[in-house]
Amino acid sequence: MKKVLSGMRPTGKLHLGHYFGVLKNWLELQEKHDCKFFIADWHALTNKYKETDELKENIRQMIIDWLSCGIDPEKATLFIQSGVKEHAELALLFSMITPKSWLELNPSYKDLKFNLYYQYLRDFLAGKQVKINQTPPPESFDEALEKATGKQKNKIFEEYLREAFHRAFYNKKGIDFKWLKEVLIKLGLQKKIVEEAVKNLEEGDVGKDIDTLGFLAYPVLQAADILIYKAEAVPVGEDQLPHIELTREIARRFNNLYDQIFPEPEAMLTEESKLPGIDGRKMSKSYNNAIYLSDDTETVNKKVMEMKTDPQRVRKTDPGNPEVCIVFEYHQLFTDRQTISDIDTKCRKAEIGCVECKKILAENINRFLDPIRERRKEIEKDLPKYEKVFQDGTEKARAIASDTMMEVRKAMKLWEF
Ligand code: SF4
Repeated sequence: MKKVLSGMRPTGKLHLGHYFGVLKNWLELQEKHDCKFFIADWHALTNKYKETDELKENIRQMIIDWLSCGIDPEKATLFIQSGVKEHAELALLFSMITPKSWLELNPSYKDLKFNLYYQYLRDFLAGKQVKINQTPPPESFDEALEKATGKQKNKIFEEYLREAFHRAFYNKKGIDFKWLKEVLIKLGLQKKIVEEAVKNLEEGDVGKDIDTLGFLAYPVLQAADILIYKAEAVPVGEDQLPHIELTREIARRFNNLYDQIFPEPEAMLTEESKLPGIDGRKMSKSYNNAIYLSDDTETVNKKVMEMKTDPQRVRKTDPGNPEVCIVFEYHQLFTDRQTISDIDTKCRKAEIGCVECKKILAENINRFLDPIRERRKEIEKDLPKYEKVFQDGTEKARAIASDTMMEVRKAMKLWEF
């Protein structure tokens, strides 16, 4: 049995992507380990510090979502980060011993910046009626670039757009906007639109929200979250590995400087949910393409009917290809093996229509969500009782955090009050 710690930012109600990416894993972990799961409300402020109106409600929704999915306060300690002020104290002390370069070189900081900029560029072009094709391109980026004539079509494969921006962004000398402009024009986008987009990127407000000390230093807060409970293992996706490494480095540095207090936690690598949104892009609230754990039957039916299918299958009599169909991807998680195999065969022979196929899926998603909905109703009837569960968990966490801080203050020879 290991001491495991994991948290989630309260940014809104949870969807199926959260369930299969995080909660499902937590349900297994709480059976085998000493788990602490926390609502990372301070972390939500690192890039959403302007949007605090909904924070309390988001925390409430998170409490309901976790408990209705079966996260169990009898098996794990559930708490709210900002209720344990010791996290902030330890983060402050860690910030004294953390070299700035460790944070600036942190790849996830750069990646987040990349995503923000890229998303802006993509949305800007889409807003200017540039057709961004999401199907895989016929040739590699380099081949396409070699053949490109610059003839203005105002169409581009998403993959080329991403690759072009990737090369411009991860440049040793900083973002190479000049090169990006030339390449996008060469690939067929209108010069005027490209110039406007790049100018906005260079001079506009994109990325400003993460240009704060809080954002840069959030891995230090994360290290404090983990080490204050002397957690031995942290379930993370691959993209979070650098953060765990940083936590280990901070623990090492503290132990060397003062006293051997902190264990070096290991990363428990978890697979990221591959479940796409109903339009095929990453499932996300901002794309408006998510199926929420709180959606009712009708909403789920409607969303499933809107799902993208094999784009080549126009009529029911056309044979389909389940391998490129989102509905089929969902079946893998919600439908039994035999039915999946039948759909696979029948789709390829045009013996099943997409509407019928979607009806089966909607029914199965609803069957999966029904018990969660039932528990949600129960919890909503007496929410204060369930909020109290988190308050009790926060007290429990605070007692442990407080003991660690006594050790830390003593090791650092700080003033004792
Ligand atoms: S029948 Fe099902 S798997 Fe085949 S294309 Fe239609 S929705 Fe997709």
